[in-house]
Amino acid sequence: MQKLTRKSILPGLTALLAAIFAVAAFSAGHGIGVAQAGQTITLIAGADNNDESESPFQGRKMKMIEEQIVARGIDDPKTLSALKKVDRHRFVPEHLRHMAYEDRPLPIGEGQTISQPYIVAFMTQALDLKETDRVLEIGTGSGYQAAVLAEIVAHVYTIEIIESLGLRAKEALGKAGYTNIDVKIGDGFKGWPEHAPFDAIMVTAAPTDIPAPLKAQLAEGGTMIIPVGQAWEQELIVLEKIDGQLLEKKTLPVRFVPMVDEKGETY
Ligand code: SAH
Repeated sequence: MQKLTRKSILPGLTALLAAIFAVAAFSAGHGIGVAQAGQTITLIAGADNNDESESPFQGRKMKMIEEQIVARGIDDPKTLSALKKVDRHRFVPEHLRHMAYEDRPLPIGEGQTISQPYIVAFMTQALDLKETDRVLEIGTGSGYQAAVLAEIVAHVYTIEIIESLGLRAKEALGKAGYTNIDVKIGDGFKGWPEHAPFDAIMVTAAPTDIPAPLKAQLAEGGTMIIPVGQAWEQELIVLEKIDGQLLEKKTLPVRFVPMVDEKGETY
């Protein structure tokens, strides 16, 4: 994918480019199963023994934030500060670590992907989070998005349907030092009623309709962001619960992996 440089972006074109790149990057990566059956994908242990200030990853991370996130109009200080704190390279398979800060989603095994950094930032900003919030995420995947949320809010509950991914994410989050994230293996369509209601809900796999249990588990005044649609054409929808009613706003066209049930059937 063509790299953006600061000079190549005229301010007036930022929003348009952002939308185009969001779609282009998803076309390039989402939904494409790259891992072969039986392929072992190992997550690198945290770079705890390295001098992080000299790590080439830190420079790449700052460049990612400037060129992919700030240049496209993300300006929420909480989101930007969280992105600075989380090492994305700790959440991608070892053989793709050198690509961790590129402008695209990446395969994480089991035919699933870690979202493009811009989409992570866009979805995080859209939730308008407070530090006291309790957030539900559906689709733990690599654990990266959960980590970004956990830098901002009090607690993150995240659900992943593929056991191997959920366990790996849990390990990566533990190594990165997070103590405010609970990972559950299960079907996120049903939400997590024991911990409801949630101040915010972020769904990172796409159902064809908004799951009723998730609507019910959103707190009054809360916000949900969810990709909704068929496998190849979805809208990222923001919902706000006001006086018990859900107000709906369409944002970006996106391409996420479909939400599936425990038999692998799409919702
Ligand atoms: N947020 C992730 C990326 C998500 S990819 C990250 O930061 O890396 C979407 C994930 O949703 C996949 O891992 C997929 O297995 C999971 N998924 C699909 N259907 C699901 C369901 N019903 N419940 C929970 N997780 C689901």
